[in-house]
Amino acid sequence: MFYLIIFIFGAVFGSFFNVCISRIPKKESIVFPNSSCPNCKTKIKPYHNIPIISYILLKGKCAYCGSKIDIHYFLVELLTPVLLILLYAGQNEQISLVFFKYTIFISFGLIIFFIDLYHYIIPDKLSLPLIVLGLIFSFLPNTDIGWMSVGIGALSGFLLFLFTAFLFQKTTGKDSLGGGDIKLIAAIGAFLGVWGTLFTVLFASLIALVILIILRHDNKKPFPFGPFLISGAITYILAGNTLIELYLRLYNIY
Ligand SMILES: [Zn+2]
Repeated sequence: MFYLIIFIFGAVFGSFFNVCISRIPKKESIVFPNSSCPNCKTKIKPYHNIPIISYILLKGKCAYCGSKIDIHYFLVELLTPVLLILLYAGQNEQISLVFFKYTIFISFGLIIFFIDLYHYIIPDKLSLPLIVLGLIFSFLPNTDIGWMSVGIGALSGFLLFLFTAFLFQKTTGKDSLGGGDIKLIAAIGAFLGVWGTLFTVLFASLIALVILIILRHDNKKPFPFGPFLISGAITYILAGNTLIELYLRLYNIY
């Protein structure tokens, strides 16, 4: 029963995250309620705005002009409830402070994932509050990762990325990690602490490298690193302990 409630809440949240994904890069208000089709400007009727279901019924097209609705509307409405359900199951089906903490991270994470993917930016409006929220959670009783680990994680992630960006710029004259990535890794550190940050950086770099090779990415074109960092961090939140255990068992250390 609770799973169904989380699923519905997640889908509705996801619907709101989509508004953020399409409006924050355009610096539009996310509170102003009426959505309209970006092509024909027709106001979207409430019954065309039901999460997940409307996208399928309309076959991903505007009901009036037939122009394609971006796939992120469907993906985020589906991914949000799925990730929240996995989180809830991983927290022994407890609605705890830790559940609340990672719900916030996953929410911001999904919005940052798609904005960076489409626009190659990570807005300060999202990364800076996330750093502050992570730090606040680390001081609360019943939290999972204390302020010491979180402080070291955020600071070392920040310095590592700053140093890498500086070194890359000095040696090749090109930009690698942007300021947005540097603030994002600090936010990840503030939520996941030292070990989570280390896991995220290794995971993100490895997957990004594989994708770069598979896509035969042109080095001159921009490449968003944020989605990989977010994927790494969410993987750590949902399955980090299991993955590390498997890895150690593989080498007979554990
Ligand atoms: Zn339209």
